[in-house]
Amino acid sequence: MSQASIIVLASGNTGKINEFNQLLMPLGYEVKPQAAYGVVDVEETGLTFVENALLKAREASRVSGLPALADDSGLDVDVLNGAPGIYSARYAGEPKSDDANNRKLLEQLLEVPEGERTARYWCVLVYLRHADDPVPLIVQQHWEGEILAHPRGEGGFGYDPLFWVPEVGMSVAELSADEKNRLSHRGLAMQALLAQLSSH
Ligand code: IMP
Repeated sequence: MSQASIIVLASGNTGKINEFNQLLMPLGYEVKPQAAYGVVDVEETGLTFVENALLKAREASRVSGLPALADDSGLDVDVLNGAPGIYSARYAGEPKSDDANNRKLLEQLLEVPEGERTARYWCVLVYLRHADDPVPLIVQQHWEGEILAHPRGEGGFGYDPLFWVPEVGMSVAELSADEKNRLSHRGLAMQALLAQLSSH
């Protein structure tokens, strides 16, 4: 049997590593955390999800000498001109806190009526064959919803209790993990990446 090709993931999140492995192992890839190759987090100085994912993937590939994969994600609220966007994790400042971020988002939207609270989650994935790859494989997927006036549900993380999904009539925090994976920006991005990698 041939050996799996290693891909370095520009993250240390074990949940993400497991999810990518589940999808990519059948294609003959094994995903390893960047820390295994001494890669440390790079500063995310880009102004878009794509730029930040590229910066992370390039650094992971440069230091490890292997193909690399990076993701970047966040929430894009129409009436806030796309905020919190690339600053989603630290919307309310340091130290990062989901509760503080959610409180800030509710405050910002206090006067905004239902119907004008449209938003979407984005997930961008970037795959580089090597650090100088001039043709990165890039996928961007989104998940449409609306920002609730009050939190609902206990599941998920981040903005999930405030993110209403009209197609299922629930907040993301009310969905099962399987249902979220099936519908979410991240699930869709992984499927899209898989389709591109298998024809790469
Ligand atoms: P990261 O790309 O994993 O660093 O995520 C960036 C930030 O975007 C997170 O800290 C959350 O605030 C937000 N975010 C991204 N995806 C989700 C999601 O599926 N649910 C809730 N919040 C999310």
